[in-house]
Amino acid sequence: MSRADLHTHTKASDGELTAKELLKKAKSKGLTTLAITDHDTIDGYLEGLKESERVGIELIPGVELTTLWNNREIHLLAYGFDPENSDLNYLLIRQKRARKLRMHKIVQVLNKQGVEVDYDEIMAYARGANIGRPHAAAVLIKKGYAANVADAFIRYLAKKDIMNIPTEFADVDSAIRIIKKAGGVVSIAHPGPMYSTDEIKELILLGIDGIECIHPSHNFNVQKVFTALAKSMNLLITGGSDYHGSPKSEYDPYLGVVTLGIQHVEALKRTCKNRRSLISN
Ligand code: AMP
Ligand code: FE
Ligand code: FE
Ligand code: ZN
Repeated sequence: MSRADLHTHTKASDGELTAKELLKKAKSKGLTTLAITDHDTIDGYLEGLKESERVGIELIPGVELTTLWNNREIHLLAYGFDPENSDLNYLLIRQKRARKLRMHKIVQVLNKQGVEVDYDEIMAYARGANIGRPHAAAVLIKKGYAANVADAFIRYLAKKDIMNIPTEFADVDSAIRIIKKAGGVVSIAHPGPMYSTDEIKELILLGIDGIECIHPSHNFNVQKVFTALAKSMNLLITGGSDYHGSPKSEYDPYLGVVTLGIQHVEALKRTCKNRRSLISN
């Protein structure tokens, strides 16, 4: 049976595995189609292209974008775009810059709280990855400020002072426009309990193509509600494991377990194909 996972991360953002390692693992878990959806970068996707052919896994272009909407951050999943599209690549450059700027501000807040970390050591830890809070969490743990990643988020990184830092991430509507013009589709990532029904409707009106109905944070009932909504609105159904890697353990709770039926991938690809034919005509 063909199964897909349209939500995974690699070392190009805050994942633990390289794209090659992830593809090998995905193959061993029986997956046939994968999207590498790193935070605001397609470097992992590009790195995985050759390996995907070698191991025989279909790799769909993907990215998870942090965007701004009503003064909050919302994660969008984009798929099937032209990875060489210049507006898209410029968007990713700006997103990378916004991540660095935000990390500078995060360090300032932490320093004010008496936490002795500096920007360069967090960047060094990330080894060229698109910087994010998990990299800061790792440094906080290393220096004894937190017991583990969850603790680092509870104590510092998910606290108001840091959550309220103004950022320069793209607005949700401009991100949607850029992805669509690059021939791709946009899905709301892990909507879970994060948005009200009215907010979901607003996002649909903004031009979202799909909803990530299947995600480890969604229990069966949440999955059912979003699937019904997507079907009633004629939207794509997407889903995946949001796998970030488990280097210290052979146990992968969700990779190969939280999966998406291949018919949904086919629908997604049809939408992209139609969109691209509109763009080229
Ligand atoms: P950022 O991209 O900097 O906003 O960081 C978001 C990432 O941090 C998410 O994709 C998760 O990988 C991770 N994350 C967010 N919240 C938590 C949490 N409470 N515990 C552990 N990891 C988290
Ligand atoms: Fe992440
Ligand atoms: Fe996310
Ligand atoms: Zn994710």
